[in-house]
Amino acid sequence: MIISKNPYSGKELKKFKELTKTEIDEALEKANSRFSSWKKTSFKERAKLMLNAAKELKKNKEEYAKDISAEMGKPISQAIAEVKKCAWVCEYYAENAEKHLADENIKTDAAKSYVSYEPLGVVLAVMPWNYPFWQVFRFAAPALMAGNIGVLKHASNVMISANNIQKVFERAGFPEGCFQNLVIGSKKVEEVIRDKRVKAVTLTGSKPAGGAVASVAGEEIKKSVLELGGSNALVIFKDANIKESVKTCVMARFQNTGQSCIAGKRLLLHENIADEFMEEFVKQVRELKSGDPADEETFIGVLAREDLAEDLEDQVNRSVEQGAEVILGGNRDKAYFEPTIITGVKKGMPVFEEETFGPAISVTTFKTDKEAVELVNTSSFGLGVSIFTEDPEFAANLVPEFEDGAVFVNELVKSDPRLPFGGTKISGYGRELSEHGIREFVNCKTVYFN
Ligand code: NAP
Repeated sequence: MIISKNPYSGKELKKFKELTKTEIDEALEKANSRFSSWKKTSFKERAKLMLNAAKELKKNKEEYAKDISAEMGKPISQAIAEVKKCAWVCEYYAENAEKHLADENIKTDAAKSYVSYEPLGVVLAVMPWNYPFWQVFRFAAPALMAGNIGVLKHASNVMISANNIQKVFERAGFPEGCFQNLVIGSKKVEEVIRDKRVKAVTLTGSKPAGGAVASVAGEEIKKSVLELGGSNALVIFKDANIKESVKTCVMARFQNTGQSCIAGKRLLLHENIADEFMEEFVKQVRELKSGDPADEETFIGVLAREDLAEDLEDQVNRSVEQGAEVILGGNRDKAYFEPTIITGVKKGMPVFEEETFGPAISVTTFKTDKEAVELVNTSSFGLGVSIFTEDPEFAANLVPEFEDGAVFVNELVKSDPRLPFGGTKISGYGRELSEHGIREFVNCKTVYFN
């Protein structure tokens, strides 16, 4: 049984019976047979339906956001913003997919030679709960526009949202089988990946889940994309605009109650500006409004499950045992964790080395630019880094020094349909979004006419 529970009230919302082997088989058969007709539809036909999906998301954003908020504790205003962003990615690919996947003529010895980008077939998406709609739509919009078919295995705590996503595509008029939610737990993922009808898999989630899924895909020689965890640094150089960077860093760490892969989790401060920065930073974090996720004024909700709050508490406590200091927050009440600032953090401490998935930020000071770069790159994660400086030339020279998948200057790391998104090192491989994302699940076919 898969259970959806409200982490704020503790109340059970809905129980779901897992699909049986036969039901999984039927769903995959439906997906696979739909592929034979879907791949022949024109970009124009697909775009029309994708724009309908965008309209549906905008029209019923409150309905979908309410379920997101109830299931995983996201403040309602942030849940509405998430649903609106999904409409954006649908519109973006409706408009651009044809251009991204147009044949590319290449001059060779042939009379004519070109590359064509053709869909692969059924793609499985294994997704996390932290942005229950966004994570799925940023896979589904390009996949469907490319002519692929989507099957979803969503996180077990957000099954209401998972079914709602299937509903969005149904309401938009997509033919049956184009996008299906499989109500299954993680134990059944392996058999789905191994199924002949499934051609590729994408996973957004933790390293253990990514490793498990990629191993099976590897054995089956199926393409995989992994979007895993992150421990992004926010680096404040000595010439940074303190007022602006404080504001940005508060958002970078605390939006979505800190449960974002690209959140700025490690604050690195040049020692000359550390005191001035911290005075303003502590003040602004203290003012963040915690409360009922259903309340429009709430900025900090609860974590998606009580065990996640316990994990965060443990990471903070272990870091304190090793000499770090909690200067704000640090307390937990069931699934709620206070906005927390931990100073005196050094390499080797849990809040520096591990991913902290909640409203807690670690603070480390540095003396030289070289030391700052070293602190950023020492992390096993490589999703992104934000640097704050008033000198664009200095920033541009630093960009190649970082090992991450993204460098943002004077801005928090964020996803944008127009830009590629993805990590290096244990943050995963492959890219989502933009032209790069839509080309992950296509057959890049060489065609040669003599
Ligand atoms: P998770 O535990 O890894 O779960 C993610 C998905 O994988 C869920 O659907 C889960 O299903 C499934 N899963 C777990 N173990 C599996 C296994 N052995 N085999 C097959 N599937 C498995 O991650 P989470 O706690 O939901 O999400 C938080 C993590 O996601 C964080 O590390 C975060 O940084 C990362 N994340 C990364 C990105 C990115 O774009 N890079 C974006 C968002 C989140 P069940 O729920 O049924 O276990």
